[in-house]
Amino acid sequence: AILANQISAGEVVERPASVVKELVENAIDAHSTEIDITVEDSGLKVIKVVDDGDGIDSSQVQTAFLRHATSKITEQRDLFRVRTLGFRGEALPSISSVSNVELKTSTGSVGTEVVFKGGKFISQQASESRKGTTVIVSSLFYNTPARLKYLSSPNTELSKISDIVNRLALSHPEVSFSFISNGRELLRTSGRGDLLQVLGAIYGVKTVSKMQPIKSKTPDISIDGYVSLPELTRSSRNYISLILNGRYVRNFPLTKSVINGYGSKLMIGRFPIAVVNISADPALIDVNVHPTKQEVRISEEPKIGGMLSNAIREMLADKQLIPDA
Ligand code: ADP
Ligand code: MG
Repeated sequence: AILANQISAGEVVERPASVVKELVENAIDAHSTEIDITVEDSGLKVIKVVDDGDGIDSSQVQTAFLRHATSKITEQRDLFRVRTLGFRGEALPSISSVSNVELKTSTGSVGTEVVFKGGKFISQQASESRKGTTVIVSSLFYNTPARLKYLSSPNTELSKISDIVNRLALSHPEVSFSFISNGRELLRTSGRGDLLQVLGAIYGVKTVSKMQPIKSKTPDISIDGYVSLPELTRSSRNYISLILNGRYVRNFPLTKSVINGYGSKLMIGRFPIAVVNISADPALIDVNVHPTKQEVRISEEPKIGGMLSNAIREMLADKQLIPDA
């Protein structure tokens, strides 16, 4: 019962960005190499995610919309042991209960198309057979006016979607992403596994020459990524992305460790751009997770934080930009 609360349903679909996150994570879990995301009116009118992944067998499509029917975990500590991003089997049921969903999918042979409206099954029929899955979510929150009222301005909701897409793209440089909002392309990545290319696509090509690689390794933890030179800063710490075992996470102490690596003089009211991959044996780190799986507490925070700060100090020392502390 505790587990059921920890991974409770209501928080899965807080806003359009949460829908985008869940659909894209499903596409990543399905080994897609290309994921194309389209939204209209900040996702409230349409959210469309097209992938070229494994697809869903036609006999399993309706089951995917049943709550917990596809749950992959039985215990909380398993959360970071699962290799897939999804594990609760509640995204599709939750999303479909507050919107209209059309899902077309094929594992390569025959395809199938299923329609749900407000969580109710409407139809399933054979369809075209390109391998992969297309999910179209329309009229999000049409039947939950309270949710609609709680949303921020269209621009803010769009920037939250953009932020999620950017972080998913940074976590998966081996996947080619495109993101189009009201006909305007906001992101396109190559999918060639080049993290610097993704950084350039998101933060501008000019930033790329100012990003420096960092690396650090112990027997059970390894860190690598890119951080900006002190001359390239932003006014918010939002440009620091932490990826733990392939999953984008929020963690304040580790974010501070990145900033601290620069010393206090280099960063007064300014913050670096950083993308850091942290790989750790899941058995060695005790991770406590918020239902949306982003805010995590990690038992090895001090150790990982020290490694992060040191790696940045070393990079700065190499560049003769020695921090003051
Ligand atoms: P979870 O991701 O937690 O398993 P979801 O509700 O997000 O639960 O998805 C239910 C199931 O539907 C997934 O486990 C997966 O088998 C299937 N599925 C959903 N989206 C896709 C997709 N884009 N490609 C392949 N399978 C998918
Ligand atoms: Mg999922």
